[in-house]
Amino acid sequence: MADLRDNKKVRHILSLSGGKDSAALAVHMRGRVEGMEYIFHDTGKELPETYEYLDRLEAYLGVKIVRTTFGTTFDDLLRRYGGMLPSNNRRWCTKMMKLKPFEDYVGSDPCINYIAIRADEDRVGYISHKPNIKAIFPFRDEGISYPDVIRILKDSGIGLPPFMEWGRSRSGCYFCFYQQKIEWVRLKHKHPDYYEMAKAYEKPNRVNANIFFWCKDESLESLERPERTRQIIENWKKTQERERGRRKNIPLAAVLAGMDFEPPTREGCLICQL
Ligand code: SF4
Repeated sequence: MADLRDNKKVRHILSLSGGKDSAALAVHMRGRVEGMEYIFHDTGKELPETYEYLDRLEAYLGVKIVRTTFGTTFDDLLRRYGGMLPSNNRRWCTKMMKLKPFEDYVGSDPCINYIAIRADEDRVGYISHKPNIKAIFPFRDEGISYPDVIRILKDSGIGLPPFMEWGRSRSGCYFCFYQQKIEWVRLKHKHPDYYEMAKAYEKPNRVNANIFFWCKDESLESLERPERTRQIIENWKKTQERERGRRKNIPLAAVLAGMDFEPPTREGCLICQL
């Protein structure tokens, strides 16, 4: 198998997720690496805002973003996995819809993969470990952190991904199980049809007839009850207050600019949500 010491031409590939960090990395790297390839692994279950944002980015970069598919559909994969919804412990979705298409796209070519983990993040990657693929982390290496990413996107005119305007923190599938409950509430408000589609997946699986929920311990049917929705919103507000209290030493200008820190989110999926 080829590795980076072979004489084959090394490919440079920047993986876009539709999220802010990888978009900022694409902006940051523009014109710095000859022949950079931009790819996006389309699960077919993305939000419409993600496609819109990728179009915007494509126009800015002046380079086609390759959109890989995985030869089947999420629904077919779900059938193959016995109807058991993916979860943090059963993350077949990332493997089959993101990682495998990436490795298939690269093949055996030696490749440098640019990953948008920031300097202020302490995250480990769900990345390829094939010997011909070398991951590099320009933001981490150059000390670029959250406020810089916001600034890069603002200065470029691209701005933040449109789904962030209605309070969704990450890109990825509309039903992603990494969403916080408040994000489900917002999804229902912004895209009730997508919420309904996510809800329709919560039914007994074929392996043991249990019903798996996207939100681990709570069904979407329960979550959308008005009193429950109110409670989630209240809890979220209280958490925000506490968070603000903990961070009161941050300069006022930074707070007003919304550039002081990234709102805390649950663990996410690197390959889907950077
Ligand atoms: S965004 Fe979430 S549901 Fe979609 S592939 Fe990634 S981890 Fe799975």
